[in-house]
Parts: sequence; C-alpha cells; structure tokens
Amino acid sequence: MTYRHTRQRSLHLTRPPLSIRMRPQTAWRSIGLLKRHATAQHSFLGHRAIQTASSRPVPNFAFAFDIDGVLLRSSKPIPGAADSLALLKEQGIPFILLTNGGGKHETDRVAEISEKLQVPLDASDIVQSHSPFAELVKGPDEASALEHKCVLVAGGDGDNCRRVAEQYGFKNVVTPGDILMANPAIWPFSKNFSDYYKTFARPLPSPIDPNNPAKSLKIDAVFVFNDPRDWALDTQVIMDLLLSSQGRMGTLSEKNGRTDLPNHGYQQDGQPHLYFSNPDLWWAAAYPLPRLGQGGFREALEGVWAATTGGPSKGIELKKTVIGKPYQPTYEFAEHQLLRNRLKTFGNSTDLPPLERVYMVGDNPESDIRGANSYRSGFGSSWQSILVRTGVYSGGDPAYTPHTIADNVHKGVQWALKSSKWPAA
Ligand SMILES: [Mg+2]
Repeated sequence: MTYRHTRQRSLHLTRPPLSIRMRPQTAWRSIGLLKRHATAQHSFLGHRAIQTASSRPVPNFAFAFDIDGVLLRSSKPIPGAADSLALLKEQGIPFILLTNGGGKHETDRVAEISEKLQVPLDASDIVQSHSPFAELVKGPDEASALEHKCVLVAGGDGDNCRRVAEQYGFKNVVTPGDILMANPAIWPFSKNFSDYYKTFARPLPSPIDPNNPAKSLKIDAVFVFNDPRDWALDTQVIMDLLLSSQGRMGTLSEKNGRTDLPNHGYQQDGQPHLYFSNPDLWWAAAYPLPRLGQGGFREALEGVWAATTGGPSKGIELKKTVIGKPYQPTYEFAEHQLLRNRLKTFGNSTDLPPLERVYMVGDNPESDIRGANSYRSGFGSSWQSILVRTGVYSGGDPAYTPHTIADNVHKGVQWALKSSKWPAA
C-alpha cells in the first residue's frame, strides 16, 4: 500500500507555523521578521561560529533530537544522553526535542525528561507529534477555526489527550469513550472495558439520535492524537463518522458509493476531516523487538476503509492529513521553534549569525532520517541526519541513508561538533 504517497490535505502549514503559545497575529509577524533577519545576515556573515558583542560564541548550528531510542529507551536514559545534552547546554548550543511521541502536554513531557536526564528544559524545547494541531484552534482564518467546533480526540491513556487538546485551546472535545458510555450499543465488545471508560467519560454535548439527524451529535474534525488503546472502538467510531452525513453520528451518507461523484461519493458529504499524528509504524520499547506504533493503527483503519469502500483498487482514497516526522510541516514547526528559542537565548542583535545547519539525531530511518533528508527549510538552513544504533535501527543498510551512523547519541553529537568545527569537539 502506498499510503505515504497519497495526496494529503495541508494542515494550513503551507504558511509558516505558529508557536503553540503565541497569539496568531504575533506569530505571523515574528515569522516574517525571522525570515528577513536570516536573509539579511546571510549576505555578510561567514560560516563558522561568530563572536557576538557579549563575546560569547554563537553557534551557527543546532540540534534536533528524537527521544525514544535516542535519549530514552522505555523511559530509561540511554548512556551518554544526559551528558550530551548537558554539554550542549553548557556550550550554549541550541537544541530541540523532536518526537513522534505524545499523549501528554508539552509541559508535562519535558518535566519528565528533564528529571530523567537532569537537564533543565521547558515546553518550548520540545515538539511532539501532535504539537502542530494547536495551529488548528484558530486556523488560518475564522471560518476554519476549530476552537468552538466539536472535535473527536482519540488515543492516549484515559482522556489525557482530551486535556492536552483543551490546553491547546479546543473548547469542545469528545472522546470515543464518551460516545461508548452514552451509547454502549455502538460497540458492544468494549463493555468489558467500561470500568476504564467510566473513570473519565463525560456527557456528550448532544445525544446521538438517528431519528432526529439534524439534532444528533455532530463532529467537525477527528484527531488521532496518540496510539489508540482500544483500536476496535476507535476504528468503529471513526468509520461511523467517515461514512456519516455531515459528521452526524447515527447517520449514513446517501452519497457513499455513488460512482458519478469524486472518490465514489466517499467523504463528499461534509464528513469531519481526519487528522493523524505520528506516522511511525514501529517504535522501540522495552520488548527486544520493535512494537507497532500509531502508524499501525492507521494502516489497520486504512485496511478497514479499503475493505468497506473498495479502496485504492477502485480509485477510492481515505482523505486525511498526517503530521509528525517525516513530514515537512513538522520539521518546519520545529525549526521555527528553534529559531525563536535562539532569539530568546542570544537576543535579536544584528550580529547574530543565521542558523545554517541543524543536526537531526534519530534512531528511525523511516521517520527521523527520511524527514531530515527530505526537509527543505524556508529559513535558509540545511539539515544533516545522524542515525544512532540505540533504538529501532539495528544495523545493515538503512532504508534512508543518513549523513553518518553513530553508535549512540554521544558519538553522534561529537561527530556533529567536529563537523561544525566547534572548539569543544
Ligand atoms: Mg525514536
């Protein structure tokens, strides 16, 4: 299946991304300034680290680190990870954590990592797979803003992801568990898990009423924020919505299967758009072999979709947006965050050298390496990929060729420092 190459709807990130914590207008302005700043400086500054007025050397490079399989493995620090980050902090070399993980708010996630690696971090030092979803709260314009629309959030423990979505600013968030507890017949096989669901389920904003479709619960967007814990329930609820009329639960679109319509009428009737984060099929956990990731759930859903509709063999696609590594918008979002952090650290002085190189250190050729290799920066930097052997990658010819392969993150960082001729290397 060639789902990775199917056409994907833009996440409005064809424009530069916003910070998850900035007001949109401010962010757009600052992106413009950053771009002008970088371009102006490119014309007269060299390629090495530059001394600023404060005499502190300012590197013209930075790092992006994947987390699982690079810094941590099943929540335990990987040897050399803490020392590497401490060295970068001490040397004033900017870095960002760029993970396809998620399920917690950025603040909570960095607090855990900070404690494990004994390195001070704050929420602006991390981009998780679902971080760019925060862009959709306000959207590029009022009409497409999802802030006050009803959105379905799937995945993660309990309703942690609902809470993350609410912290991003979504005001009306429903989970598949809410739907199940209000309508146990929607997926009878999940009744065994009702003790779990009742710990966090909330009443629905409106009931599911097939007899009165105009009043039935309407969902305006579907987000798979993190790995679903109950694939079956989530598959059923998402399929119901994809086949519905106007995203009204309990309805079935009459356009489905109509060969005179685009996509044989599927997803042509105001159904909610489907957003996935984290495309990883596999990830490195405590078990000796890689485990199925969130990408596995997406493949399963694609399979059910194809079996139901006829799928690609009949020219029918599942229209969706996928973000996370290796996709461009996620790297764009991360680089913007890096540039903002850099300005915060070094100030907006006129002799601040442009960011020319970012080293992406990752363990997954399919996401970390592929993404860094294919990313085209709108800010003028080039990205170099460093593949480590402490996670998913287990040797041999990787599917996507990195600039170098290092035994671990420490060796990777040393290679990069040397490559950038940094004195501490
Ligand atoms: Mg990884």
